[in-house]
Amino acid sequence: MTAIHAPKRGKKIVKLPPPNTLEIFQGSKQERLEQLYNKWYGCTKCPLGDLRACDGKQDIVFGEGNPDANILIVGEAPGEEEEATGMPFVGKAGQLLNQMLAFTSSNPDIRKAQEDYSKISHSEFNMKKIRAFHSYVEQWRNGEFFITNAVACRPPENATPTSDQIKMCWERLWNIIYIVDPWFIVACGNSALAAVMRKVQIKITAARGHLYDVEYQGHVGPVTYPVMPIFHPSYLLRKADWQVQGGDYEKTVKDLRVSLKAVDFLRERYLGVKAPQRG
Ligand code: URA
Repeated sequence: MTAIHAPKRGKKIVKLPPPNTLEIFQGSKQERLEQLYNKWYGCTKCPLGDLRACDGKQDIVFGEGNPDANILIVGEAPGEEEEATGMPFVGKAGQLLNQMLAFTSSNPDIRKAQEDYSKISHSEFNMKKIRAFHSYVEQWRNGEFFITNAVACRPPENATPTSDQIKMCWERLWNIIYIVDPWFIVACGNSALAAVMRKVQIKITAARGHLYDVEYQGHVGPVTYPVMPIFHPSYLLRKADWQVQGGDYEKTVKDLRVSLKAVDFLRERYLGVKAPQRG
């Protein structure tokens, strides 16, 4: 079994969402997520929803992926492409997330696709190859993870969501956590961290790379989820320190790898599934 380097531990955060915010839907996880989606479709609880509805758009960016995923990835807010498609992380930040997930994947085909992709120049000429890579990885990604955001509607000018907007969307996020019931949560950036950890203001620069235990209401009582905060891909795109040793990009790939290996370790321990090789 490959050794995993235990990440530094953050403080244990005990913050249970009030049980009455959790919906007791019937059916499979997929069916329950659909019911939750229907409940939030067309939401105008906060100004972001109002703006979206005034624009004639009913659909929110609820979340996408495998309802049985072991890992839940939480981002900040939809951008233009996400709003247009209704799917999280499909724009530039999503493309970087795709690359990092593919790079650290246990699937050799996905790793090979990433290796080939990293060799092509990002020119108009290669646009078809670029699109093909991202749609291939997105398909794989949606089978491996469930991905959602701190808020389900696009803030104007892609502004950071306010804490009030995050609070108005808490119930949706908590219910997603409650239904998917993942083994591990990856929080991308400050807003995701604030949303997952409820009210606790921890800056991502201090928190990243530390594993936090966050307590939630589960199906039969409290459940503790390990949460790994990582830098947001949009921040990494601005920073662009791809080649810098010990830079934020390298740290984020390392944090993702630690998260994935932690889940490999749990799968091996509890399900007897041998931990795979990762990139
Ligand atoms: N940034 C996010 O945080 N989420 C998205 O879905 C897209 C960009």
